[in-house]
This record gives sequence, structure tokens and C-alpha cells, in this order.
Amino acid sequence: GLPMIYLITPTYARLEQKADLVRLSHTLLHVPNIHWIVIEDSSTKTALVTNFLRTCGLNYTHLNVQTPPEVKMKATDPNWLKPRGVLQRNLGLSWLRKSSKTTQLEPGVVYFADDDNTYSLQLFKEMRWTKKVSVWPVGLVGGLRYESPVVVKGTVTRWLTYWKPQRPFAMDMAGFAINLRLLLQHPNAQFTNAVQRGYQESTLLTALGVMLSDLEPRADGCTKILVWHTRTEKTKLKNEEKLRQKYGKGTD
Ligand code: UDP
Ligand code: MN
Repeated sequence: GLPMIYLITPTYARLEQKADLVRLSHTLLHVPNIHWIVIEDSSTKTALVTNFLRTCGLNYTHLNVQTPPEVKMKATDPNWLKPRGVLQRNLGLSWLRKSSKTTQLEPGVVYFADDDNTYSLQLFKEMRWTKKVSVWPVGLVGGLRYESPVVVKGTVTRWLTYWKPQRPFAMDMAGFAINLRLLLQHPNAQFTNAVQRGYQESTLLTALGVMLSDLEPRADGCTKILVWHTRTEKTKLKNEEKLRQKYGKGTD
């Protein structure tokens, strides 16, 4: 049958969280055979995400793990300063490994889908039949219109990226999917907070024993953009307090 797509999505509480999750879930509702693993960056599962998942209409697993304060991003930090979603993605990976021991997980592919990106339905068709690791361009990322694997005669030879192109796998988290079997064959492969900026993807793929020649270019030989690294604007509640002062209490 159709291989399963296991989607690993870290998420954290913020004003825009529900909006981002609704938008992503409405994309995923168009995708057959998908299992959504949602991992909250929190010490307990929040009511917002719990209730949202119950009614979202998707097959899901709800997990949580809090990013420790020493590595946690502050709202005032520039977005590149600290790694985001590392422990959450790792918990998603260990859930898959644990589940594979107790139940017969359907064969499939694992994809790391941040909650604020924009995904074409075609992307899921492209990744579904991944043998080892499939790759494609990502739009609106790295200070460029897009970053991409460079494909020569069907093989990835290097990376089109301005920033640290010498990285073993110089692509964004949204730019690849991994066959589940490969992940299960390498039980220790995971992400880590202990690497330089930009090396998360390389850390995982290197630990999986992946080589450039293993990569399966998708999206028409990496010529089409099917995923965009969009970021949701932070809402400024500049009139909330002023509204209360103007009309008094009871305006909520
Ligand atoms: N994230 C998280 N905890 C945080 C910040 C982010 O779990 O403290 C999640 C977020 O919901 C997203 C992923 O990690 O799914 C990547 O974060 P973000 O989209 O902010 O990163 P960027 O767009 O800057 O790459
Ligand atoms: Mn993002």
C-alpha cells in the first residue's frame, strides 16, 4: 500500500500558535496516510494543543518535552541564536523507535515539519516513496529566494546556499525526508544542542551514514519549490492595554 508519512512537528505556546496549527492541519487533511507527531515545548501538555488535536481530524500522537532554560530562546533573542525544536524532534524520533518495538509500524517516511512553514500538497507526493533520503529546494530561506541541492545527472553534488556551503548537508530541516527503516537501523542517530549553528541537519544525516550519492533528488530534479520557510509575524498587542483604559473592565 501507500507508505505512511510520519510528520514530526515541534510547537510552542505563543499568540500565533493556534493560527499556525490550524493552517498546517488544513494542509495535512488533504494528505492521505499521514501520522502527525506533535511535540509541545512545555513541561505539560497544554489544553490548547490537546483540544485542538482532538478535533483536528488527523491521526496524531501528542507528546511534550520542555527545552531547558539554558538553551531556550528568549523572545528578544535573534532567531538564529539558539537551536529551536531540538529536544522535541528527538522525542518524536524516540517515539517512533519505541513504537516500532511494541507495534508493527507501517513502513514509510519521516519528515520534520515546523508549524509555521508552507507546504505544497505535491511535496508529500514527492517524499512518500523515499528509499533512503529524498531532498528538494526550500523557498524563502537563508537570505535567498531559495536554497537547493545542486543536481548533476541525477546526483546531488553540492549545495546552493550562501551560508556555510561546506556543511555536509547544507539544507534546511524542511528540505529532506528519511525512510523510517533507515532511522530504525541507526537507533542512536538524533539531533543535538551541542553543535554549531546550521549543523543540526548534517548531524542527523551523518549519523545515519548517509552520503551525497545516496540522496534522491525530488521536485523535478530539484527545480521546483514545494515548501517555503515562511515565518509568522509576531503580533504586537499595542492596543490591548489602551482598550482597557478607554472602556474600563468587562471588554474581554
Ligand atoms: N519551537 C519550539 N520551541 C521554541 C521555538 C520554536 O518548539 O522555543 C518550534 C516551532 O514551533 C517550530 C520549530 O520549533 O515548529 C522551529 O522554530 P521556528 O519556526 O521559530 O524557527 P525558524 O522559523 O526561525 O527557523
Ligand atoms: Mn519557522
